[in-house]
Amino acid sequence: MKKVSLLIPAYNEQESLPLLYQKIVEVTDTLPQYEWEFMFVNDGSKDKTLERLQYLRANDNRVNYVDLSRNFGKEIAMLAGFDFATGDCLIIIDADLQDPPELIPDMIKYWEEGYEDVYAKRKTREGESFMKKFTSKLYYAILQRMTSIPIQRDTGDFRLLDRICVNALCQMRETQRYTKGMYSWIGFRKKDIEFDQGSRVAGTTKWNFFKLLGLAIEGITSHTTM
Ligand code: UDP
Ligand code: MG
Repeated sequence: MKKVSLLIPAYNEQESLPLLYQKIVEVTDTLPQYEWEFMFVNDGSKDKTLERLQYLRANDNRVNYVDLSRNFGKEIAMLAGFDFATGDCLIIIDADLQDPPELIPDMIKYWEEGYEDVYAKRKTREGESFMKKFTSKLYYAILQRMTSIPIQRDTGDFRLLDRICVNALCQMRETQRYTKGMYSWIGFRKKDIEFDQGSRVAGTTKWNFFKLLGLAIEGITSHTTM
């Protein structure tokens, strides 16, 4: 039986977790031919995220979690997940349900067809300001002009990665990470699927202007010669 890991980085997601858990159980129940692992990474949350994870784990041993010693940021939280997940493939999904778990069966279908990186491409994004969408568009246009690695547009971390991709990403041990560039850099067979992105189900965004700016600079300094 093939094993599929879900990787869910979580920072102060106490309200989202029960809803997310319910949703992923619903979706994964429709795919009983796979063994499942729900790998959460608690990224130094200050709320009851850890307690929620302990509770989920006590009732469902598909749930695993890594508990980081402080808040490291999503990029490093994902690396911890890459290190500890044991699946034949891994699906990265946000805790706030902005990444619809309903896409999972399609991702797996393409994986079974031989694609090694099946990434979700946003057709629309709801609940985000004009400014955020505009600066994001502008940024990717600039980044793409500065590098020869193709950067996938309108794409986040929501994707299925074959074990071969996970192993490649694990070999890259840098602590200043721009994972979005790394998916492109490592290569492998890629396939996009389109979706409409909704708003957060609970809580607020964990990114502020400076964190986003930091990530933007990371993209340029680590993926362009300039
Ligand atoms: N996240 C994390 N560490 C952080 C910030 C965010 O693990 O320091 C997680 C967060 O809990 C969520 C995902 O990364 O599961 C995406 O964060 P968020 O939804 O706040 O970002 P946005 O969708 O607003 O870009
Ligand atoms: Mg979000």
